[in-house]
Amino acid sequence: SEPQDGPAKISPMMAQFIAIKAAHPGSLLFYRMGDFYELFFEDAEIAAKALGIVLTRRGKYQGEDIPMCGVPVERAQEYLHRLISLGHRVSVCEQIEDPAEAKKRGAKSVVRREVRRLVTPGTITEETLLDPARANRLLAIARARQADGQWSYGLAALDISTGEFLLSEAPEAQIETEIARIEPAEIVIPEGLMDQPLFVRLAREARAPLTPLGRLAAEGPAAERRICDFFGLATLDGLGALSPAEIAAAAAALFYVDRTQFSARPALSLPTRVAREAHMSIDAATRANLELTRTLGGAREGSLIGAIDRSVTAAGGRLLAERLAAPLTDPDEITRRQEAVAFFFDEPALREAARRALKAAPDLMRAIARLALERGGPRDLAALRDGFFAARALVETLRAAENLPGELAQACAAAGALDPLVPQKLQSALADALPLNRRDGGFVAPDFDAGLDELRALRDDTRKVVAALQARYCDLADMRQLKLKHNNFLGFYLEAPQAQGEKLLKPPFDAMFIHRQTMAGAMRFSTPELSELDVKISTAADQALVRELSIFDELAATLLAQGEAIKRAAAALACIDAAAGLAELAADCGWTRPEVDGSLKFHIEGGRHPVVEAALRRGGAPFVANDCDLSGLAEEGGRIAVVTGPNMAGKSTYLRQNALIAVLAQIGSFVPARRAHIGVVDRLFSRVGASDDLARGRSTFMVEMVETAAILNSARARSLVILDEIGRGTATFDGLSIAWAVMEHLHEVNRSRALFATHFHELTQLGKRLARIDNLTVRVSEWKGDVIFLHEIIAGAADQSYGVQVAKLAGLPAQVVARARLLLSEFEAAERMSSRDRLVADLPLFSASYVKAPEPAEIAHGGGSADALGAALDAVNPDELSPRAALEELYRLKRLR
Ligand code: ADP
Repeated sequence: SEPQDGPAKISPMMAQFIAIKAAHPGSLLFYRMGDFYELFFEDAEIAAKALGIVLTRRGKYQGEDIPMCGVPVERAQEYLHRLISLGHRVSVCEQIEDPAEAKKRGAKSVVRREVRRLVTPGTITEETLLDPARANRLLAIARARQADGQWSYGLAALDISTGEFLLSEAPEAQIETEIARIEPAEIVIPEGLMDQPLFVRLAREARAPLTPLGRLAAEGPAAERRICDFFGLATLDGLGALSPAEIAAAAAALFYVDRTQFSARPALSLPTRVAREAHMSIDAATRANLELTRTLGGAREGSLIGAIDRSVTAAGGRLLAERLAAPLTDPDEITRRQEAVAFFFDEPALREAARRALKAAPDLMRAIARLALERGGPRDLAALRDGFFAARALVETLRAAENLPGELAQACAAAGALDPLVPQKLQSALADALPLNRRDGGFVAPDFDAGLDELRALRDDTRKVVAALQARYCDLADMRQLKLKHNNFLGFYLEAPQAQGEKLLKPPFDAMFIHRQTMAGAMRFSTPELSELDVKISTAADQALVRELSIFDELAATLLAQGEAIKRAAAALACIDAAAGLAELAADCGWTRPEVDGSLKFHIEGGRHPVVEAALRRGGAPFVANDCDLSGLAEEGGRIAVVTGPNMAGKSTYLRQNALIAVLAQIGSFVPARRAHIGVVDRLFSRVGASDDLARGRSTFMVEMVETAAILNSARARSLVILDEIGRGTATFDGLSIAWAVMEHLHEVNRSRALFATHFHELTQLGKRLARIDNLTVRVSEWKGDVIFLHEIIAGAADQSYGVQVAKLAGLPAQVVARARLLLSEFEAAERMSSRDRLVADLPLFSASYVKAPEPAEIAHGGGSADALGAALDAVNPDELSPRAALEELYRLKRLR
């Protein structure tokens, strides 16, 4: 029977494992054992399940079998990828000495091991682990108290795969919107914040894993010191005015980088501050709803970026995605980007040439980042070589152009600033076929380094000498079948068939041939001479590899010395690629350059939905272009359009296309419209009402109301609001009342430009009562009792909903359709006699209960009304309300009327 293993009786290796595991909590431990990374205990169970690999056992611990599983080292990346994408963190523990060394210390001693890296979703750099089309950001959040006693949150977003390092600051209510912009792969926050409702929710939603950090990350002077130390700065003054919260967040991010990368140092850029107002604020729900970078189902295909990305490099695609995530608000900056697109739009030949040059440019940013972390390989050197050449070709192409706009001229200067000697050197240094790993050797070209050539010649010549020996040994042994062979265990050896081999064991041959192995049917021998040559060859090969590795280090050092210039050039290539790609798109799809300024204009002629249009085009159907005018004056606010019309008529498409056109205009792109004039939108909101989803029932409606509350609390005159079927998830009167009140609020208080699609026809009454509301509908024609959708938006209100006709189109049985028609006419007759329409017409004006807010920015603090509702509103501080309380408050306010 098995002896009971107490803790005292565990093997020395298991003791080492347990100690290392205890020192790295919160991660799976990859424990290197020869050619495998092994996992033990619970780690093994988690990994075996996640990776679909076999769970075995090894030894006992406290009387129980120890579960174990392992992954081969050469396939570790693949397994890491799977674990990381499932949100796990992995500590990679290496053997840091030769097992032979350990043996020398005694039979029982264990190979020294050390964790050399903590792999987490936010800190990966390997090409195989990264999505080429997206940034891979780590987001650190920290908070600090402001002078007024309020908490302010600092956000530090860094991408160690490219070196980008951005800081911003936000009040608590805006954090989620910031997170939606940054799209982090991992979030780290101080331990103390983990139980705050916001972070509890973020952790539960699990869009990105949330990692708590202990107090070590530090605040105040310690935080400043950490940043200074990392970048070798004497003071932070050179970085511009950073707030205490931003400094704390930056320090937390760097702390985490140290903790995950150990001694390796990523080549981070100095942190740059991003003012929140510099970007169109788009909250998470709006991003999801507009399907900017992924569809509701999570795919890139079918999203806006999927439809507009014509970039030819990975970095260009990432830049476009980033711009889409954060459209600009400064008309001058937008104009600068537009000019770059317009230049390529007007110069098709140059565009074509530039794109051809760019196609040859690999991912420079990520290659240089890997080299900085000493994780680079020969292919990263080749990537930089090719990138340098591509940059030069691009600069030569564009230099010919006259009047290059500012953004492109600047990019050209950065791309042209690369040292021309570097690619030459790489070109002569690198062999044609390159191994992934530098340890595999063979990546340095012949004729590059005399010392290396000599060692290789020695190795190869010796191999030839060995090969020539076979004939001599055959003669000596007087045996034709003696074969010269090689394996890793024996080195070079001679193999004879069993029968003849016996002869060599006897004099006089035994003086010359040394018996090594007897196999089934064969015997193996070596000779002193062969062994000597063997050593000579392997020594030469080892020395050649050492030489190659030092050449690698030298080349990498040359490149890293120019790291900043390379990063700037890489950014420049991405920028040119993005501009040329947007121009290609505009030319291809007939887009035009919008006029963008600081007004409250929103005037689009012949606008189209880029994604729906592309889908229709594939099916050979035309897209019906539509106008939209929500323009208002600064002193009044924007206009609101109420869109009614049957289901399937194209309301949602129309709403979204106008929001997308604003986004496209503000990233500096051309837009899918005949003409567009857009006054910059500071905040964009888009909501779709709850569908009548019984399974989720009221909670869906709750979500809808929480989201609507967020809009009413933060939309301003510069904002654009898109509401699709709000109020639909509840009983008719509730829904209508809420939709009505929301519209009035938008008109009187928020004064945003807004589009409102609804099936509550009563809402078209508002157009008669409020100055800046227009009614729009979708043209439909009827033919022999069937409805035909023309998808054309016209002024006016829908006269009927065509629900029965749509139901017929959907294939409802004829009897049901006929019955529904009959019922409908009955209901309509009853309705005409009811008082609902009259009631709606008699509703008191909402605006009476509000004092017109003087400045949109001050609205959130209340306007100071005289009546009860106004007073009640004054007492409400939306920032302090939970979603639940907000809803109750809304009901209470309604009751006050
Ligand atoms: P609604 O919101 O009114 O129910 P949608 O906007 O979802 O309607 O549009 C329904 C379908 O009609 C879309 O999937 C699209 O195929 C088509 N459609 C919408 N707008 C247009 C248009 N402007 N031109 C051509 N087809 C359109």
